[in-house]
Amino acid sequence: MNTTYHATEQGYYGEFGGAFIPEMLYPNVEELRQRYLAIMEEPAFQSEFQALLTDYVGRPTPLYFAERLSKKYNTRIYLKREDLCHTGAHKINNTIGQVLLAKRLGKKRIIAETGAGQHGVATATVCALMGLECIVYMGEIDIQRQAPNVARMKMLGAEVRPATSGSKTLKDATNEAIRDWINNPVDTYYIIGSVVGPHPYPDMVARFQSVISAEIQPQLFEKEGRKNPDYVIACVGGGSNAAGAFYHFLDDSNVQLIAVEAAGKGIDSGESAATSTLGKTGIIHGSKTLLMQSEDGQITEPYSISAGLDYPGIGPLHAHLFTSGRAEFAAATDNEAMQAGLELCKTEGIIPAIESAHALAVLEQRQFGTNDIVVINLSGRGDKDLNTYISYFGL
Ligand SMILES: *Cc1c(COP(=O)(O)O)cnc(C)c1O
Repeated sequence: MNTTYHATEQGYYGEFGGAFIPEMLYPNVEELRQRYLAIMEEPAFQSEFQALLTDYVGRPTPLYFAERLSKKYNTRIYLKREDLCHTGAHKINNTIGQVLLAKRLGKKRIIAETGAGQHGVATATVCALMGLECIVYMGEIDIQRQAPNVARMKMLGAEVRPATSGSKTLKDATNEAIRDWINNPVDTYYIIGSVVGPHPYPDMVARFQSVISAEIQPQLFEKEGRKNPDYVIACVGGGSNAAGAFYHFLDDSNVQLIAVEAAGKGIDSGESAATSTLGKTGIIHGSKTLLMQSEDGQITEPYSISAGLDYPGIGPLHAHLFTSGRAEFAAATDNEAMQAGLELCKTEGIIPAIESAHALAVLEQRQFGTNDIVVINLSGRGDKDLNTYISYFGL
């Protein structure tokens, strides 16, 4: 198999990736790097992971033929229903995997960072399930903006610690989590929520999320007599749902991959999160990747109506997919995404997360062939976004 798009042993995807970490974090990251693959390949690990995905998360999620949407766009559209996962999004695939790994490393205390709160909720959920202590770092501003998810995490028994430095949002919460890990190297495990951070996180998270494309292949074969679609479309914040949806198609160039970033109020508006277009190579949270920064290398604040997409970088895999041309990168504005989200409600009776609605917006931007099979990864459900939908449309 051609492995060009998979991480090297040192965690490089082309020129991107690696592990740029402070000396004091080295023992933790190195322990993980040396052990993650062996643990993940253990039959006992795999059977426990698969059993929880089946009985707890509700996998496999359906691959649903969206008939009315297909008619409207004159193509064949399938939705991969990650919105039906327990806790409402794909994130729990990864948190279950990492908590099982942490237990095998003998760790008793779990920390995580969260922006919109979805990764925090998924982590708190799995820690409750396993009876583990859970501390979630969250920017002070995000704590105010995402009150329902803060309440969920507390109900699930997690402690939510505010990050009060910098812009008091996701990247500051990440810095606090890293500081905690440095101070508690022996008993603590840090669960990162996307395909970002130092190696081995991007590769590990992609492998846990790859269950998405592993399921798509037999599901599509059953419905269409072939296991590969013509297109796979997914939104990209850090890039974990896209990495999972692309994973088993990466080396098959007949499958066109479309990653959709948040263009906010417009790519050139100064209020955007279109990292591939606007970003330059730099280092963020231990990884060399494309990131939005000023001339002198200060990280630019990202903006999107969708809290799950406003990360100033993308995972190193995606930076490589972008620069190598393997994936096409599209961008959807707030308005395009909101309209596409509402359209899915009316044509298919599914209220999507606003993140996922960015992927749906590509249907208006480009024409697909009548016989093309287009798989769109519906990363999450829109319940958490009701207030945003209500105020945007004046419902
Ligand atoms: C967090 C989140 C995203 C963005 O994260 P990725 O790592 O890019 O997948 C997308 N959709 C939903 C529903 C999310 O909760």
